[in-house]
Amino acid sequence: MSETTENTRLGSDTYQCMNCGAALKYKPDTDFLHCDYCGTNTPIESKKVEEVHELDFEQYAQNFEKLNTQTTKIIGCRKCGAESTFNESIKSAACPYCTTPLIESDTHEERLIRPSYLLPFKIEGRDTHKHLETWLKRLWFAPNKLKKQALQTNQLQGVYIPCWTYDAQTETDYSGQKGVNYTTTVGTGKNRRTVTRTRWYFCDGHVSLFFDDVMVPASGMISRDIMNKINNWDSMNMVEADNRFLSGFITEKYVMNMNNGYDLARQIMNSEIDYAIRRDIGGDHQRITAKNTHFSEVKFKLILLPVYMSSYIYKNKLYHFFLNGRTGRLTGDRPYSPIKIAIAIIIGIVALIAFILLLNSNQ
Ligand SMILES: [Zn+2]
Ligand SMILES: [Zn+2]
Repeated sequence: MSETTENTRLGSDTYQCMNCGAALKYKPDTDFLHCDYCGTNTPIESKKVEEVHELDFEQYAQNFEKLNTQTTKIIGCRKCGAESTFNESIKSAACPYCTTPLIESDTHEERLIRPSYLLPFKIEGRDTHKHLETWLKRLWFAPNKLKKQALQTNQLQGVYIPCWTYDAQTETDYSGQKGVNYTTTVGTGKNRRTVTRTRWYFCDGHVSLFFDDVMVPASGMISRDIMNKINNWDSMNMVEADNRFLSGFITEKYVMNMNNGYDLARQIMNSEIDYAIRRDIGGDHQRITAKNTHFSEVKFKLILLPVYMSSYIYKNKLYHFFLNGRTGRLTGDRPYSPIKIAIAIIIGIVALIAFILLLNSNQ
């Protein structure tokens, strides 16, 4: 782990073009910073991650000071409260979550844990519309106006989303019951029939599971549910966190702290452990009556993931799109068109009546 970098401010460093002095931006899917004015490219000597270093949770959970922290200039949104960081390569920034313009005076400084790794953007901002268009075309029952409006509204904004990842070795002792089905004949005469019943056996056992990189988004803008919908991150292509990759993008401040993130990660691990216990018990049915899990070798890291987002207002309501900045996988909330749904229902009923009439006429 490198020593604490006091003076670098996450994402807020501005990199200037050696040729014309303009602010440079990271060019997705490349290893260089690009100048939008004169076209000059400046290479980033990024370190390919050979071995991922993770931090020991126990060691750091009690002692924030030990962590690799940095002073970070944060800009807050007056309307929704979302907090983020960006540098001068973004001329006029609007809150990626609610579209409210961000005001320079709404900045403050905070001491935050420095992310260890990040996945750089792969898809360029100008290509995001293509993905959005395809997605909108496939939407069922969406109002036509929405499609038009969504495509007209602002360019999708690239935002690096903070995420915690946790590793843990778990050892669980459990006791439970195994249910085995059997069939038997009951009743007499006309009521004689075969039924399935379950015989229960007490059992206990042990499962050991290792968890690698259980991911918990630390974002205040994107829920875990949304992150799951756009997921599949090629984590093998992660690079060491370098502010130059953040240039031209907004970086969201983590809202969930590492302890709360760990609580959530344990919930995820616990449901996997339950699944493993049920498999271990076997039989046709399982009951878990008691379990005791020991978590050890807990490691964690903070990473940044590239997401494009767009928000738009339709009939006074705020809707969002989220696009995986590496794969283009997209999700979003959307309104439904009551008229289109009504027409579909009417067509369905008419088709059904026609079908019944056809059957009757053939008899
Ligand atoms: Zn230039
Ligand atoms: Zn906002």
